[in-house]
Amino acid sequence: MTTNKNVLISGAGIAGLTLAYWLDHHGFRPTVIERAPHVRHGGYAVDFRGEALDVLDRMDLLEPVRALDAAMGDAAMVDAEGRQYAVLPAAVFAGDLEVPKAKLTQLLYAAARERSEYLFGDSISAVEQDSCGVDVTFENGPPRRFDLLVGADGLHSRTRGLVFGPEERFVRSLGIHTAIFSLPNYLGLHRTGQLYVSPGKAANMFADDAGGRARAALHFAAEGLEYDRYDITEQQHIVAERFTGEGWEVPRLLAEMRAAEDFWFDANAQVVMDTWTSGRVVLLGDAGYCAAPTSGRGTSQALIGAYVLAGELAQARGNHTAAFAAYENVMRPFVTEHQAVGREGAERFFMPAPTQEVLDVLAATAPERTRTEAVRLPDYAVR
Ligand SMILES: Cc1cc2nc3c(=O)[nH]c(=O)nc-3n(C[C@H](O)[C@H](O)[C@H](O)COP(=O)(O)OP(=O)(O)OC[C@H]3O[C@@H](n4cnc5c(N)ncnc54)[C@H](O)[C@@H]3O)c2cc1C
Repeated sequence: MTTNKNVLISGAGIAGLTLAYWLDHHGFRPTVIERAPHVRHGGYAVDFRGEALDVLDRMDLLEPVRALDAAMGDAAMVDAEGRQYAVLPAAVFAGDLEVPKAKLTQLLYAAARERSEYLFGDSISAVEQDSCGVDVTFENGPPRRFDLLVGADGLHSRTRGLVFGPEERFVRSLGIHTAIFSLPNYLGLHRTGQLYVSPGKAANMFADDAGGRARAALHFAAEGLEYDRYDITEQQHIVAERFTGEGWEVPRLLAEMRAAEDFWFDANAQVVMDTWTSGRVVLLGDAGYCAAPTSGRGTSQALIGAYVLAGELAQARGNHTAAFAAYENVMRPFVTEHQAVGREGAERFFMPAPTQEVLDVLAATAPERTRTEAVRLPDYAVR
């Protein structure tokens, strides 16, 4: 008989929604708590590869996701006057499939909506576990007891902070901060983009999926930057200060940034932990092993991690000790490799603007450089 069926998942992102789907599939009863009032609408495009596509296929989502594919072609490297001096081949920066994160989240939510209880607009605020269960206190709702708790609440995971320790112990900045926002596609880009690089900074604008929109990103090198994570005005001020005096379209991008409704700003960081489990609590996706945007692997890790965690719980008939250990075994080598890719990607940021020769070499070697060892994607029988 399967035990530990009542599972609380903190976070309705890629990882949390995928886990809700697979837990229900295996006969568990998931509850998902999400701090936002609904699943998140905002976000950049994410690309993913390999076994992540198999997970989507097993959820009957591969075709709908393929239909959203907005993969970019080659992009232009431009100087301060906007003159193209090199072409960045798509092979250097694109994965097997690229889709807007918001649309992927909506597809996952549609697939998982009927399979789980949802508590939107709330967050866990305290956790206490004993040998039989986990008592959870919420910011808004009444306290409840669950059999297991999964922290799928992203890079700044509340679950990790409450159960494993403060963020400083596990989150390692890669020394780059990034702002992303959408804006009118006033350059008339179509499945392409423009990139401008100056020492310690990079700015780009790429076509978005539809509707005459584009998205811009402003990256800059910074260590130990201190700011309020919830104060967008302060963050925009920091970005504007860093990019003052830069060429290309940067002045216009800074103006658009202030008007954007979906401004996002954060450090490029990794989460490095010796273990992702503590008793009846387990971390999933960015919360436990963020590989940083420079890896291009975070979405894949979230999808595969969720599939494996649910499958191992089913295989162990709810024995969380055995299941969590097996989940770590399957995921650990894969995560280690992806985090190395993420660090290499960040190192390239600190090199001088690439010449066409360098870009051509990067494109020619991309399959070897970006290919990582395949994760074993087991078949978990439904019990
Ligand atoms: C700029 C950028 C570009 C990226 N590009 C790529 C890419 O090209 N390819 C790729 O594979 N990956 C990319 N990623 C990474 C990818 O987005 C993440 O790795 C992936 O979304 C991880 O999914 P997740 O579910 O673990 O976390 P998230 O998607 O962050 O979801 C976490 C969820 O938890 C919720 N939450 C947070 N705190 C609480 C709380 N206290 N209580 C309840 N809910 C909470 C959040 O609202 C959110 O819904 C990129 C990331 C960034 C930032």
